[in-house]
Amino acid sequence: MEEKKAEIRVGDIIRLKKAHPCGSREWQVLRIGQDFRLKCAGCGHQIMLKRREVEKNMRTSGILLANRENKEYNKTP
Ligand SMILES: [Zn+2]
Repeated sequence: MEEKKAEIRVGDIIRLKKAHPCGSREWQVLRIGQDFRLKCAGCGHQIMLKRREVEKNMRTSGILLANRENKEYNKTP
């Protein structure tokens, strides 16, 4: 088990340090592989980003787990 970082799944919304020119920092994960395909949540533009770049960009800014919020984390305390 080498992966200790947060798992990213297709459909997740992640927030990157890198902002798109449209101003949005949130990206929806469309495909996961050696390269990630990300869709800008602001304007819908799609980019390819290397896994390493994604992880590096996420390390400081964290992930927005929009999907999982609804399913797992949305439990009332
Ligand atoms: Zn954009």
